[in-house]
Amino acid sequence: MTGPKSESITRQRWMAKKAARAAVAFGSVATGRLALVERLRLGPEVRVLTYHRFGDADREPFRVAAKSFEEQVRYLAERGLALSLSEFEQFLAGDLVPKRGASLVTIDDGSVSVHRVALPILRDHGVPAVLFTVAGAVGTGHGQDGSAAEAFVDWDELAEIAAGGIAVQSHSMTHRSMARLSVNEVADEAAQSRELLEGRLGGDVRSFAYPYGTRADYDAGTARAIHDAGYRCIFTSQHGAIGAGADPLTLPRVKIEGGEGMAMFRLAVAGGLDAWSVVDRSLYALQTPG
Ligand SMILES: [Zn+2]
Repeated sequence: MTGPKSESITRQRWMAKKAARAAVAFGSVATGRLALVERLRLGPEVRVLTYHRFGDADREPFRVAAKSFEEQVRYLAERGLALSLSEFEQFLAGDLVPKRGASLVTIDDGSVSVHRVALPILRDHGVPAVLFTVAGAVGTGHGQDGSAAEAFVDWDELAEIAAGGIAVQSHSMTHRSMARLSVNEVADEAAQSRELLEGRLGGDVRSFAYPYGTRADYDAGTARAIHDAGYRCIFTSQHGAIGAGADPLTLPRVKIEGGEGMAMFRLAVAGGLDAWSVVDRSLYALQTPG
């Protein structure tokens, strides 16, 4: 969920952002940065890929076309690069050495296109994934018209998603910025969403992804409250790779957007968008839609 304004952006803005992402990704190859990182890095890394919605849409960055998603999932499957949440946790603990390019597929929010489009593709290729869903929003938005907001999956669809190899984890109860809530409210968001998801689906909820996830949306206090509510891993929307022993309470991810080709995806998986963290830190205007 990214707010109604994010659904469509101007063509000019779309082109500017696409050009900037490509410049970061392809520039990192041109300058030899990737090769250098490869030689200098202390250990293997994993990238956590972030998706939101699926299907065809005109210039909606948070929606990836079915055909593109199928290509991306097949790419990961054929190379054995997709980790499950459990394998990712083993990696963080230093108990699993991943392949170069190993990735964890994550999807935020829980829109109906996750069930309709992403689930069959992931299932067909045997690629595990994580869905961070807004527990308090499950089943809402049905019957709305227009493209302003895609409805959330209902509990039956969520159960099918969980049965299909996707670990359903928490994206809070209400999708508010955690940094703007009191510590008690953050604790409630974390605890209630976990209890609700575990109660309805029977799985183990131990990972949390911050709504929005920019640096304005979390801090040490929110991390402590969520950790105290029983979560082991907390994900932000900051870009970057994760090494074994990384802080499990502020884990970066890499955003996969619509309208980009396979060359861009391969680079993102290989670390070409890690440098986008500079944008995360400084140029909010480019990152924040609307
Ligand atoms: Zn969200």
